Amino acid sequence: MALVVQKYGGSSLATPELIRKVAERVIRKKEEGHDLVVVVSAMGKTTDDLIRLAEEVAEEPPPREMDMLLSSGEQISMALLAMAIQDMGYPAISLTGPQAGIMTDTSHRKARILEVDTSRVRKELSEGKIVIVAGFQGLSTEGEITTLGRGGSDRTAVALAYALGAEGCEIYTDVEGVFTADPRIVPEAKKIPVISGDEMLELASSGAKVMEARSVEFATKYGVEVHVRSTFSDEPGTVIKREDPAMEKVLVRGIALDTKEAKVTIRRVPDRPGVAAAIFSPLADANINVDMIVQNVSQDGFTDLSFTVSTSDLKTALAICEGTKARVGAEEVTADEDVAKVSVVGVGMRSHAGVAAKMFKALADEGINIEMITTSEIRISCVVRKEQGERAVRALHRAFELDKEPT
Ligand code: ASP
Ligand code: MG
Repeated sequence: MALVVQKYGGSSLATPELIRKVAERVIRKKEEGHDLVVVVSAMGKTTDDLIRLAEEVAEEPPPREMDMLLSSGEQISMALLAMAIQDMGYPAISLTGPQAGIMTDTSHRKARILEVDTSRVRKELSEGKIVIVAGFQGLSTEGEITTLGRGGSDRTAVALAYALGAEGCEIYTDVEGVFTADPRIVPEAKKIPVISGDEMLELASSGAKVMEARSVEFATKYGVEVHVRSTFSDEPGTVIKREDPAMEKVLVRGIALDTKEAKVTIRRVPDRPGVAAAIFSPLADANINVDMIVQNVSQDGFTDLSFTVSTSDLKTALAICEGTKARVGAEEVTADEDVAKVSVVGVGMRSHAGVAAKMFKALADEGINIEMITTSEIRISCVVRKEQGERAVRALHRAFELDKEPT
């Protein structure tokens, strides 16, 4: 009997009716003769609601207590799903992350999975039970409950699939799969049947919301093939797998828009060795990911330096930079939240020239100004004004003819 790990997102579990629908879906798989481990997210917007609650009782809720609070969301879903399945006459048991052997480091709200002790899960499976596991949570090396970061249930699923040597890892969500662009922005966007892990990672970290970026990274690293598909249909979704040569034929696989980054500018930074390190080291120490960095041409020994961070890190980043400003003798720190990052991604870029030129021309033809540019081997990203972001995506989707040939 093959083992399958399924994960259901919050929108798939938002109401009691939906939970029963998921239970039916799980049972159908079981009836096909599979062993099943089912990872669940919190119902609907529960996690958002819990965060809001915390902010109502405390100015800065301590991370440890936040994790105690947030981990409760997934525990509601796991118990309800296990009850629904049992009510339909099938054996099931719910397990918290710690009970399921998800071991993490000690960094609250952003924990990393260090290892998975699968003994309890295997024991329950061997007794014929469907095992429901609360996603997004684990037990730290210091015995504390941790959470994995927003969207982290995907990582629970991938980690379990890897540790259990599962035959499949299915991520069920409210969309049909991964599209060439967000269909709400580009109605002609097409579903991508197969995508490489690297492309998915670039898309996910560039704003595509289908799967958590760190989970894609984990899956790629450990060779877990993931099938992202809809809870509400039987259509095949998108398979994320190791790159194969055929994938390079497509120049651009998809386009992502990220409106959750902000630009920080430090003005009149003394241009001397060690200054960049003085600015970015404390940000790194605070676990803040810096995305794009642009340093202007230096004039009279001073330069302006801009970079982008996630808006959720902006407050902390600004506080840190104010401190650095004083230390290095810069003039001013400003924040600009009215920016958007648009990215084109495709492994075909490795072997084809001219993608950047085509991208810049498409944006220029729309009268869209580019403020910052970064590239990786398979991605080009531009920062533009936020209100032009969606138009930029549509223009690029047309320019790279993603609405035409099915990829
Ligand atoms: N419930 C958590 C969140 O909303 C984890 C997840 O959905 O994966 O971020
Ligand atoms: Mg969620």
